[in-house]
Amino acid sequence: MTDSCAPGDALPCRLGTGEFDAGQPGILLVDDHPLMLATQARLLSGMGYRRVGTARSAEAALALMRPDPAAVDVLICDLNMPGMDGIELLRILDRQGFGGGVILLSGEGARVLQTVQRLLGRGQLVLLGALEKPASREGLRGLLDDWTSRAASRPAPKVRPPFTEEELRTAHRLGEWVLHYQPKVDLGNGSLASLEALIRWQHPEQGLVMPDRFIALAEACGLIDPMTEWALREGLAQIARWRGAGLDTRVAVNVSMASLDAPDFANRTSAIVKEMGMQPRDLILEVTESRLGESSTTPLENLVRLRVQRFGLSIDDFGTGHSSLAQLRDIPFTELKVDRGFVRGARTNAVIRPILEGSIEMARRLGMQSVAEGVETQDDWRLLQEVGCDLAQGYFIARPMPAEQVVEWLSAWMARRPALVANSG
Ligand code: C2E
Ligand code: CA
Ligand code: CA
Repeated sequence: MTDSCAPGDALPCRLGTGEFDAGQPGILLVDDHPLMLATQARLLSGMGYRRVGTARSAEAALALMRPDPAAVDVLICDLNMPGMDGIELLRILDRQGFGGGVILLSGEGARVLQTVQRLLGRGQLVLLGALEKPASREGLRGLLDDWTSRAASRPAPKVRPPFTEEELRTAHRLGEWVLHYQPKVDLGNGSLASLEALIRWQHPEQGLVMPDRFIALAEACGLIDPMTEWALREGLAQIARWRGAGLDTRVAVNVSMASLDAPDFANRTSAIVKEMGMQPRDLILEVTESRLGESSTTPLENLVRLRVQRFGLSIDDFGTGHSSLAQLRDIPFTELKVDRGFVRGARTNAVIRPILEGSIEMARRLGMQSVAEGVETQDDWRLLQEVGCDLAQGYFIARPMPAEQVVEWLSAWMARRPALVANSG
C-alpha cells in the first residue's frame, strides 16, 4: 500500500489487503525512473486506488511478487529498463502462470502490443493496452476499468493438484478409462476414412478428465503400456460392434514412444489384433514424432515390423518436432498428420501456408496419405481441398464423441456433405 511506503522503495512495500481495500485491484508499477514512478503512483492514489506498490526494476518486481503473486492484479510496466527489460519480466511472469492484467508503458502503442502478445504465447496473462509515458488519468482509467469488468466476468480458475501414481493405478484397476472417437474424412468425397480413439478418464468426482492431465504421468510410472493395450482392445472391439451395425471403418489409436521402446510391442500388438479376430489393416497407430528414434533403435524395429504386417502407421503432429524429416526417411509411415498449428488460418498466413502445402506435397510424393488436423472452419476445409490434402479432422467436421453418438453424427454429416464436396457419390 502506498500509505506505508515511499514510491521507489520497492522491496519492503506490500500490496496487502486491509478491510477497507476490499474490491480494490492490487497494482504494481514498474519503472526505472524514480520521478516517473512517484508521479504515476501519486496519480493512481489520486484516482482512488489504494493498493499500489512500486518497483524500480524488473528484478525488484519479481522479488516483490514472489511471496504472493496473486496479490498483484494489474502490472503497469515500463518496457525499456536497464538490466532486465519489461518484455523479459512479462515472459517470466507468464511462464510462472501470472494471471493478472498488464498495462505497458511505451510510446510504440499497438504495434508493440501485438508483438508482445505473440512473444507471450498462450499464458493466462491479459494485455490490457499500451500507454505513452507519462500515462494520463483518462488512459489509466479506461484500461483499469476494462480490467475490472473482465475480472468480474472471468470464472475463478480451477487449480487442481496433479494426480498421483496411486490414483492412476486405481483408475486402471477400476476400469475408469473411456474412449471418445473423432472422425477423419476424405476431402474429395466426404466419406469417413477412420475414427481416432482418444482416451479420457471418467473420474468419480471430477467428471471427464482429458488426457493432457494424465498421459505424461502414465508414461512416467509405466502405466502407459497397459493403458495402450486397453485402448487397442477397446478400439478394435468398437470397430467390430460398428461393423455389426453396418458401419465399416478403421480405428486409429495413439501410441506413446514409451510403449514403442518395449522390444515386444509389435508382437503384443499383432497378438491382440488376432485375439480380437481383426486384421492389421483395421488399425492405424498414431505416433507422435517427438523423441522418435532418439536413443535406441527399438521403436524403429517395432514400427518396421508392424508395417510389414500391414498395420497403418501415422506420424502425428508433423512439423512440431525437430527431426521429422529423418523419421520420414527411416520409418515407412502410411499417413502424415500435419499438426494443427499449420492448419488453422493457413489461407492468410504467409508463413504457415507454405509449410502446410509443402508437407502435403511431401506426403504425396512419398506415397503417404496426408491428414490435416485442427480443421475448425469452412475456410480451412476449402483451402485443404484447394491444396490437395487427402483427409481432414477437426471441430468443423466433428468433436471427439462417445461411440454411441457416431452413427447419428454420420447421418448428419452425410446431409452436410453435398455442400462441401464436388463428388458426394
Ligand atoms: P492428438 O493425438 O494430437 O489428438 C488431437 C487433440 O486435438 C485431441 O485432444 C482433440 O480433442 C483435439 N482436437 C481435435 N480437433 C480439434 C480442433 O479442430 N481444434 C482444436 N483446437 N483441437 C482439436 P485430446 O483428446 O485432449 O488429446 C490430447 C492428446 O492426448 C492427443 O493429441 C494424444 O497425443 C494424447 N492421447 C489421447 N489419447 C491417447 C491414448 O489413448 N494414448 C496415448 N498415448 N496418448 C493419447
Ligand atoms: Ca493423434
Ligand atoms: Ca495430433
